Amino acid sequence: MKRVLSGMRPTGPLHIGHYLGALGNWVRLQEEYECFYFVADWHALSTMYDESGTLAEYTDEIVKDWLSVGLDPERSTLFLQSAVLEHAELLVLLSMITPLSWLERVPSYKEVRQQMAHKDLATYGFLGYPLLQTADIIIYRAHYVPVGIDQLPHLELAREIVRRFNFMYTGDEEGGIFPEPLELLTEAPKVPGTDGRKMSKSYDNAIYLKDSAEEVWDKLRPMITDPARVRRTDPGDPDRCPVYELHVFFTPEDHRSEVAEGCRKAGIGCIDCKKVLYAELERVLAPLRDRRDELNRKPDLVKQILTDGNDRAREEARRTMSDVRDAVKLYSS
Ligand code: SF4
Repeated sequence: MKRVLSGMRPTGPLHIGHYLGALGNWVRLQEEYECFYFVADWHALSTMYDESGTLAEYTDEIVKDWLSVGLDPERSTLFLQSAVLEHAELLVLLSMITPLSWLERVPSYKEVRQQMAHKDLATYGFLGYPLLQTADIIIYRAHYVPVGIDQLPHLELAREIVRRFNFMYTGDEEGGIFPEPLELLTEAPKVPGTDGRKMSKSYDNAIYLKDSAEEVWDKLRPMITDPARVRRTDPGDPDRCPVYELHVFFTPEDHRSEVAEGCRKAGIGCIDCKKVLYAELERVLAPLRDRRDELNRKPDLVKQILTDGNDRAREEARRTMSDVRDAVKLYSS
């Protein structure tokens, strides 16, 4: 079985945008690949270095989210980045052979610094985070990494570093210690939040996988609609409505076309329309919530799953690092 690796930063609970994008994809990948999925807590620190107090809580939250949507710890290795110290050891060795210019030209370096101008990101850790990503991937000799188009330069950097390492220490650019990781290109669907902008925790417009049924409805009820539909008697245009965009993801087509027609002819009101969406969303979210309740009743389970996953990951990482130390010809004591 080919191996896949991917990680998520523990920056908050996961929402339905994650479910429709990366997370749903991770669940599907379990069918075909040997998957390693990790909580990228060191990566979170590259931008949240002064907010580390939330990391433990968010780690617990996102692992519950993972399990509730169907990630299976029997099939996939679920682990915590900071529990496998070999990632840091490999990062040190890679940092010795990586020209600074390779890191400075990664597009996200400038982009994120501009987007987060309120934060001082002129740090060694932030510049080096694509190198840490490289270490995360190649320490498991992963064949594939699921990425969106915007992440491709990171993977290209990882491949360049692999070639350099293989050539420098084994004399074989293509067949050395590390395989070159390839992309599994995944489209991240644009999921609207309750204010019509992209769903995001930072916009405070997200419907979370852990939300109660009441919380979901409290968010949907005031959700923004087609701005031209002011009165109940005004015909609306579903193509200009974020509520309808969510219908496209969750409501079966026949029911959805009834809703669209009702909207265009002012046959239904926006609250009726949102009630339909709410029912469809609940068909998806209620079972997730049940699984989460079960996890909440077993407070040590998440910790145990991570401990087991950490052990499995560490074993694999140690095997790689033994080969790496031999290749670099470090003194064996
Ligand atoms: S009826 Fe539905 S699709 Fe039409 S404007 Fe209202 S919420 Fe949007």
